[in-house]
Amino acid sequence: MNNELNIKEKTINLLNEAEQQVQEQFKNQEEICLYNSIKVLNAFKKHNISEIHFNQTTGYGYNDLGREKIEQVYSEIFKSEDSLVRNQFISGTHALATTLFALLRPNDTLLSITGLPYDTLHEVIGIKENKSSLKSYGINYEQIDLVDNDFNYELIKETLKNKTIKVVEIQRSKGYSTRKSITLDKLEKVINTIRKIDQNVIIMVDNCYCEFVNKKEPIELGADITVGSLIKNLGAGITTNGAYVTGRKDLIQLVAERLNVPGQGKEVGPTQNSNKAILQGLYLAPNVVKNSIKTAILTAKALENLGYKTEPKYNEQRADIVQNIIFGNSEKVIKYTQGIQMGSAIDSNAIPTPWDMPGYEDQIIMASGSFVQGSSIEISCDAPIREPYIAYQQGSLTYEYGKIAVAKAIDNIEQ
Ligand SMILES: *Cc1c(COP(=O)(O)O)cnc(C)c1O
Repeated sequence: MNNELNIKEKTINLLNEAEQQVQEQFKNQEEICLYNSIKVLNAFKKHNISEIHFNQTTGYGYNDLGREKIEQVYSEIFKSEDSLVRNQFISGTHALATTLFALLRPNDTLLSITGLPYDTLHEVIGIKENKSSLKSYGINYEQIDLVDNDFNYELIKETLKNKTIKVVEIQRSKGYSTRKSITLDKLEKVINTIRKIDQNVIIMVDNCYCEFVNKKEPIELGADITVGSLIKNLGAGITTNGAYVTGRKDLIQLVAERLNVPGQGKEVGPTQNSNKAILQGLYLAPNVVKNSIKTAILTAKALENLGYKTEPKYNEQRADIVQNIIFGNSEKVIKYTQGIQMGSAIDSNAIPTPWDMPGYEDQIIMASGSFVQGSSIEISCDAPIREPYIAYQQGSLTYEYGKIAVAKAIDNIEQ
């Protein structure tokens, strides 16, 4: 690395040394990337994607050939019956909320078995008061916390035996919690446990940040429906907004009617020039996820070498693209996040500071020097300003840009 960016010599050496030490982990990720690239290409070939599918519709969006093909390609990749991949979804939270409202009716019960859900779902569920929450419609919520980063199997079994649960929600990625993300092994085990007791309960997986990190996706392990954002893994920085929901056909129909209109379901929804970007994002996603994970592994190793606590460790199995650094004090977490901003492409001269964000409980500092607003498949770092002061770093469209941003961030904390 030359020094036009004013990175300290010792930081460059630190990163180069860490890079040498993680080659085995990088190889593993390259193998997964090849596997998922074949999966994507096969889906494109099987569904005969061609230039005509880049066309757009306006107005009602009837007979949008590209949109229909995209949803078939998603179903192929996720091994699901049907999919809804739409730019009308504002965000991952919007898709999750739409799915919950679609599946639950008054007096039904939603059960989260991964503890407190992602911050922005608190007002959706009614954990935090809101006049438009599920709770305001008479939908009950129950929660079973993780125990030592694993499911509380006994309590899950007991609850399913004694109560009528409509939807079990499993959030794989940790959100802003201190727990570990849920690996595929754990997900498979808990789904099998649930199915032994209850064949009908709907198992819904929040798959944000987890797509293409491993070789399988939740539907293959027995989940009924899974949800994720297109400005995270599957958009690869190319797709400018939207989200997907994939799974059982009857459930996708309910979600489509809730997002759009009862009676019109999947048949409407103008794509307005988004089809090409959705397809191209998906095409690049295996590689961009690989770059993100390589950046995460390098970050973990470099910071571990400096004596910082990380989660996951550089050589641990990964479930998502998120890398935590546990700083233990607010000054370092702020400086690190500001350093990531300095090493980003857009607004590199802006200095982020902690602020109140809609849907979040604590003040949050966010570095997101991204092409797509709030996109966290691009190099980004955020931290709620609370104990134990954890930085949540995600992404990088390329490994090299990731390495540079991390160098700027380390420089900013190691004076
Ligand atoms: C990002 C994320 C969401 C949704 O976030 P949006 O910013 O609304 O797209 C939901 N759950 C988890 C675990 C996430 O990481």
